[in-house]
Amino acid sequence: MDFGFSQEQEELREHLRSHLSKVCPPEYAEACDRDGTPPREAYNALAEQGWLGIIVPKEYGGSEQNAIELAILLEEAGRHFEELGVWLFRTITYGGYAVMAHGTKAQKEYFLPKVAKGELSFCFGLTEPESGSDAAALKTRARPDGNENYILNGQKVFTSGMDISDYCLLVARTNDGEKKQQGITNFLVDTTLDGIDIRKIDTLGHRAIGTTQVFYEDVQVPATAVLGTVDEGWAAADAYLWYERLCLSAARTGAALAAFDCALEYAKSRNQFGRPIGKFQAISHKLADMKMMLDISRTMVYRFAWLVSEGRATREDAAVLKLYSSETYKAVSDMGLQIFGGYGYCMEYPMQRFFRDSRLSVIGAGTSEIQRNIIARSLGL
Ligand SMILES: Cc1cc2nc3c(=O)[nH]c(=O)nc-3n(C[C@H](O)[C@H](O)[C@H](O)COP(=O)(O)OP(=O)(O)OC[C@H]3O[C@@H](n4cnc5c(N)ncnc54)[C@H](O)[C@@H]3O)c2cc1C
Repeated sequence: MDFGFSQEQEELREHLRSHLSKVCPPEYAEACDRDGTPPREAYNALAEQGWLGIIVPKEYGGSEQNAIELAILLEEAGRHFEELGVWLFRTITYGGYAVMAHGTKAQKEYFLPKVAKGELSFCFGLTEPESGSDAAALKTRARPDGNENYILNGQKVFTSGMDISDYCLLVARTNDGEKKQQGITNFLVDTTLDGIDIRKIDTLGHRAIGTTQVFYEDVQVPATAVLGTVDEGWAAADAYLWYERLCLSAARTGAALAAFDCALEYAKSRNQFGRPIGKFQAISHKLADMKMMLDISRTMVYRFAWLVSEGRATREDAAVLKLYSSETYKAVSDMGLQIFGGYGYCMEYPMQRFFRDSRLSVIGAGTSEIQRNIIARSLGL
C-alpha cells in the first residue's frame, strides 16, 4: 500500500499551484464573485497550457493522464477558486469523458481536440422543475422528425453555465419504457440553436458563473448529436454522475482547504483579551476538527481517484465520497465564519464566499439525503 504521490505528481501540483497563484489570485476570485463575471482569463490561461485535455487520449491532442492527476488539477483549481474548478470539471467530464466513453469516431474526432485546446465549453442539463432528486422522471422530449433530426421540447432548471457554454450534454426522453430509466437519450446540443431560451437564476452563492433555467421549444438537433445509444442513455448519465462526484469532491476539498487556511491565519492574528483567539480552546478545537475532517476528505478523494483509475470504483464509494467531502466543506466554512466573528459576516472578508458557495455542495449533484439513501441501499436497507 502506498499513500504517497509520485515525483511527477508532486511536480504537477507545484506547477499548477504556482500558475494558479498568478492567474487566479484571491482578489481575482473575489472580483469574479462580486461582479458576477466568469473566471474566463484564468480558464483560458489553464487551457493554453493544455489542462483541459488532461484525460483526453494523446491521439486527440490530450495528455492522457489518469484520475489521480485529474483530482490534483481540480483540488488545486478549487483551492484558488471553486467556480473555476467546477467550470473545468464540466468541460472535462461532459465534453471529454462522456465523448471518450460513448462518442462515435466522428464525435471523438470533432470534439476531443477542441476540448483539449479549450476551444469548447460544456454544461450538463439533467434536472427539471419536477424532477430533481428523482432525476429519471424527466419529461423533456426529443422526437425524431423522420428527417435525420430530433425536435426538442421541454424545460430544464439549474443547467449551470449554459450561458457560457458551447454545448450542453442534455438528457431527454425519447421513449416511454416500463421503467422511468428506460427511453432516455443523451444529446450534445449546440447552445446557440434556435428555440433555446436561457434565463439566469439569482442564487446565494456560485455567483461568478451560476446557473440557469433553459426552455427548449421545437429545437431541431441533428441525429448526429445523439451521444451513445438511443433510449439507453440513463446508464451513461448515471456513470457521468459518479465521475462528476470525483471532480466536485476534489474541487470542494480544495476550496475547504482554502477556507481553513484563512481561518487559521485569522485565529493566529486576531487578538482578544490580550492573546490571539487561536489560544482559546473553543477556537483551537474547531481548527483541530477542521484539520481532521479535511485530512479525511483528501484521503477519500485520492482513494476514490485511485479506485477510478483501477476501474474498481463503485456507486457506493462515490456516494460516500460525495457525502463526506461536501458535508466537510459546509462544516469547515461554517466554523471558519464563526472564527472570523462579525467580520465573517461582512462581504469584504473572504469567509462569506466559502460559506455561501459551500451550501450548494450538499445539494447539487445529488443531495446528502440521496447519498445516504444510496449508501443505505448498499447495506441492504
Ligand atoms: C446552484 C445549482 C447548480 C446546479 N447545477 C446543475 C447542473 O449543472 N445540471 C443539472 O442537471 N442539475 C444541477 N443542479 C440541480 C441539483 O442537482 C438538484 O437541485 C438536486 O439534485 C436536488 O433536486 P431538487 O432541487 O429538485 O430538490 P428535491 O429533489 O425536490 O429535494 C428537496 C429535498 O427533499 C429531499 N429528498 C428528495 N427525495 C428524497 C428521498 N428519496 N429521500 C430523502 N430525501 C429526499 C432532498 O434531499 C432535499 O432535501 C444544480 C442545483 C443548484 C441549486
